[in-house]
Amino acid sequence: MPVGARSVAAAVALAVAAACNPQRTPEHNLILITLDTTRADRLGSYGSQTVHTPNLDRIAELGTVFDHAFAVAPITAPSHASILSGTFPPFHQVRDNDIAAVPAGVPWLPEIVGDRGYRTAAMVAAYPLRSAMGFARGFDYFGDQLEAPPGSFVITNLHTVGVASRPGEQISEEFRMWLAANHSGGRFFVWLHYYDPHWPWTPRAGYADLYPDQPYDGEIAYMDDCIGKVLRVLADEGLAETTGLVVVADHGEGLMDHDELTHGLLLYNGTVRVPLIVRLPWLEKQRSRVDTFVSNADVMPTILDALGIEPEALGLPIQARSLVPLLAPTSVDAPPGPAWDRSLYFETFYAFYHYRWSPLAGFAADGRKYIHGPTDELYDLRTDPAERRPLSEPAELDALAERLDRLEVELRRDRPSADRYQQSREELEKLRALGYVGGEAADDLESVADLSALLHPREAMPIFLKYNDILGLIHSGRFVEALDLARSIADADPHQKDARMTVASLNVQLGRTEAADQAFAELIEDFSDKDVVYQAGVYFQKRRNLELARQCFERLIADDPADIEAATRLAEVAVAQGDVDEGRRLLDGALAVDPAYREAMLGLAVLLDQQGEPEAEDRFRAVATRYPFDPRVSFDFGIFLLRHDRDAEAVERLRRAAALSDGPLFAAAQFALASHYERTGDLDQARACLREIVIQTDNPPALRQAQDRLAALGAE
Ligand SMILES: [Zn+2]
Repeated sequence: MPVGARSVAAAVALAVAAACNPQRTPEHNLILITLDTTRADRLGSYGSQTVHTPNLDRIAELGTVFDHAFAVAPITAPSHASILSGTFPPFHQVRDNDIAAVPAGVPWLPEIVGDRGYRTAAMVAAYPLRSAMGFARGFDYFGDQLEAPPGSFVITNLHTVGVASRPGEQISEEFRMWLAANHSGGRFFVWLHYYDPHWPWTPRAGYADLYPDQPYDGEIAYMDDCIGKVLRVLADEGLAETTGLVVVADHGEGLMDHDELTHGLLLYNGTVRVPLIVRLPWLEKQRSRVDTFVSNADVMPTILDALGIEPEALGLPIQARSLVPLLAPTSVDAPPGPAWDRSLYFETFYAFYHYRWSPLAGFAADGRKYIHGPTDELYDLRTDPAERRPLSEPAELDALAERLDRLEVELRRDRPSADRYQQSREELEKLRALGYVGGEAADDLESVADLSALLHPREAMPIFLKYNDILGLIHSGRFVEALDLARSIADADPHQKDARMTVASLNVQLGRTEAADQAFAELIEDFSDKDVVYQAGVYFQKRRNLELARQCFERLIADDPADIEAATRLAEVAVAQGDVDEGRRLLDGALAVDPAYREAMLGLAVLLDQQGEPEAEDRFRAVATRYPFDPRVSFDFGIFLLRHDRDAEAVERLRRAAALSDGPLFAAAQFALASHYERTGDLDQARACLREIVIQTDNPPALRQAQDRLAALGAE
């Protein structure tokens, strides 16, 4: 072969190699799908014979299934903070839901890929992942509009009745709409969060029929169907072969393994082992299964690596590692050597925060799992995956306890301050200047030294199961009995935050306002946790006890000047108390921390409108542009436009609000449209809107109101 020809061939070979190399393929998209509360063994690809999950199984068939993936915590917010940051809880310091926002100093996947030109979008389905908790950072679009169903009320952050969340079909539909609006914009990274398998297990009609005795499985099958819609959208748009998929759960569900019904208290595999499936269509071939122990924190560097961004080259404190090297097909299906010989950390502080029972922490390594608490446990997961036969050799357990100590120290090293927005320090000074500062630093959990003084959550399980009885009573409307049971738990142990929150919430539900007032007042005396103080503040605000509401929100801002959720609420209180200027300053302060914080954007638009400021319309338009799929934003803007005689655009906004909601906002938007048509004499249209309510709403008062109005309008 002539020299020239050889070099041409070599150049071609190089070009081909470059084309196959993920590092050189910038037009790839990636979708991260997080499955809330999903046990690995409920998916067909993980051996389930009973649950129909054809869509997830299809991804698994084309991609790589990790048989031993461990969640960092059996709790939504901590686990997702790790999935998106590639760091473990001792580093990112999100130890429970609704208590601490993700600090600004942790590496953050959407921010990194966004800086490299990816359009970034997230559609999340549940309250603990809302933007105010720091999860929106780096996303161009963050869909977290959550409508609580009518009659719902929050009890605690884990055990809720009709908590603000939304079904999977809304997540998939919002993805479809987002993609349609952004199709021509180049590569993207999208995070889709599905919450359906979370308690309470109430699959919709078709799925309830298919799984009459396993409602949890029915929720999984429904979620799989919703994910199928995403796959169809990708196929229809011709994106199936350029879009990588990473599917992972934040944690599993106990289903009475080790007597745990749901998740959060214990660290056994029902809740800590999670499904993890990676499919990168641009790899020519992928290994089908990986046996190596991995963590769900590994998802973050894996996604970076899959998109050709070398995690190590970023100079960021990423603690997890890319799993891309494990995707390569190899002839030997075995752990690929010492590089993967890691101690994979996990923990739960749920029992500590909510009941003052012992927190637990541990790690998986060498085929075994070690759990540290008031008593220590060790299991050989290869021979005893159900963790039924603890290995007990005191000397070895001591050595493992020391190893865990060293691991925690290692993971805490150089962790960032817990501040949510470091870069906005000067802006925070504005809030400080308003006098909202003075709180002490939050408890350092590492100071929970003497575990043996605390009850092991396993021993406390009989008490915990009473909470399930309470939920059962609530679901069947037996509120008085539920209240009595909750009160008996709280009386026996006043540290039971959840029981006391339940007592307070049920008193509200039963209309016993004096008892509710007292219960909330005592709660904020005894607890300083954000979830308690915030919920109490919201309660007092609704009760029009503005002074107490003010105290709650001021306390939260004193603890964390970047608590934009509390600042926005406090602005509402200030305005209600007649201090518009303070309200304005607080909203400006919140927007200085996060310019895209929807509640503050909307609050400012409403405030400016009340003041008759012409700038209001621009503000409404800005929030409507930023949140095009949010029914609340469309509704508020529509009402604003109606009041300013901008009928055509108002109708468009209200129709959009109705189309985007199947909750209370659906009916509200249809009522607003109906009154508009009545005023303008278009009775046919008015009737049509009211009929929509009659057909679609399951809210009895709205239904009655629509029927009455229809009767008053008479037949056409
Ligand atoms: Zn979760």
